[in-house]
Amino acid sequence: MSEKLQKLKDILGEVSDINRAASVLVWDQETYMPPGGLANRADQYSTLRRIAHSRFTADEVGGLLDDLDGEVRGLPFESDHASLIRVTRRDYDRARKLPTELVAEIARAGTMAQPVWRKARQDSDFKLFAPYLQKNVELIRRVADALGYRKRPYDALVDRYEPGLTTDQLEAIFAELKKAIVPLVSDVGRHADAVDDSVLHRGFDPDAQLAYSLEVVTKLGYDVKRGRQDISAHPMTFAFGPGDVRITTRVSRNFFNECLFGSIHESGHGMYSQGIEQNLDRTPLWGEASPGVDESQSRLWENLVGRSAAFWQYFFPSLRDRFPGPLKGVDDEGFFKAVNRAQPSLIRVEADEVTYNLHILLRFELENELLEAQLKVEDLPEAWNALVKSYLGLDVPNDREGVLQDIHWSDMSFANFPAYTLGNVIGAQLLEKVRSEVPDLDGHIARGEFGVLLDWLRLNLYRHGRKFTPGEVMERVTGRPLTTEPWVTYVRQKFGTLYGVRTAEAGS
Ligand code: ZN
Repeated sequence: MSEKLQKLKDILGEVSDINRAASVLVWDQETYMPPGGLANRADQYSTLRRIAHSRFTADEVGGLLDDLDGEVRGLPFESDHASLIRVTRRDYDRARKLPTELVAEIARAGTMAQPVWRKARQDSDFKLFAPYLQKNVELIRRVADALGYRKRPYDALVDRYEPGLTTDQLEAIFAELKKAIVPLVSDVGRHADAVDDSVLHRGFDPDAQLAYSLEVVTKLGYDVKRGRQDISAHPMTFAFGPGDVRITTRVSRNFFNECLFGSIHESGHGMYSQGIEQNLDRTPLWGEASPGVDESQSRLWENLVGRSAAFWQYFFPSLRDRFPGPLKGVDDEGFFKAVNRAQPSLIRVEADEVTYNLHILLRFELENELLEAQLKVEDLPEAWNALVKSYLGLDVPNDREGVLQDIHWSDMSFANFPAYTLGNVIGAQLLEKVRSEVPDLDGHIARGEFGVLLDWLRLNLYRHGRKFTPGEVMERVTGRPLTTEPWVTYVRQKFGTLYGVRTAEAGS
């Protein structure tokens, strides 16, 4: 390794250390920090983010990248060194456009707005949160302006998360999904009696649920020697490095899905992080390809695996042993159906696979309108409720179950919502490829053999970290660009069968 490359890696290692330390602070805030710690925590977090940003955007880093450009020119695209220079350059050029003070202000604004949002949600009082949201929208507009865009402010934010993707492309993806989903929702609605999920509400001991969920994710391949599970208001994953990738979940006595599927979802993120090649550690390459690709793994494990019939063939006997009371008279097939009940609902995180993307679509549209100043913050609840009525056919009874339900606009995660829909689409496309190479995948799952799937994902996706953009990932792994077709085929088949619906596509 040349002296210059070593120098660059030393700086990037320090930046990574600082960012991970900031991330430990967030983990602590979400799990164990007392409420009184907030003001100090906002300072601490903001300070670390500012130091990391200014260290990373120093002229010295730019100079080293310039010098090293020639050194890696002949190397293969996917080599560690060529990838490191290419991806670091992309991150660097983008980060240089953001003034350090703006980065610090955003970190502070996000930390301070969160508890206000929590209180506002609890009291269903949008007016309390509105001034903070107003400030956050102004800040995120400054980010979009600083980053620059050709057509729409949202482009700048999307590109930051999903390099190469545009707002127009997202609109096209959503249009295709909507065309498939809307008729399916009404077909399923006409056969709503086909699925009864009352078993999920029969009362499951919370401690037993937590223990069981950890056993399940360990069986799937989440390595607890390099991780742990705690409780937080919203399930999350925190990756501090190859040896420490933590997940959180939540638990409800009267709704079984929250804990287990929260855990499986986060273990999908966790297994991705745990599968990144060790020698990329402490560089910008140690991470997931993008939030969308990251979400493809949480949703692949949660839904395509965890909500499959084969999965419950394997796990149901042990679940029934653990919860004999609530599961009396239930079999694996009945339970499989219950966890897949589809019905338009108000809360995104509780939405079924069919309607989920409609929740994202309406957030995507509202974010664009806020950013382009077509919609005022004060008019947001009304606009939200109108879209819920239009897409899901529901009346929103209060803002707690409406516009105040998500954390994202309080913690500055604007333009992050499309990652969930991208995750659904990418996950289905990847699993279609897995099935073409592992024809008996369901047989493996039904026998509790998850290694074949995990190994495939590690080999083809996880180990590469951030070397490739989402578009490059799809081309390399599946041999074609991102397409909604595998997901549409999957939901039509699965829910057509579950609900006894003969749609033209599923029935023919
Ligand atoms: Zn997730």
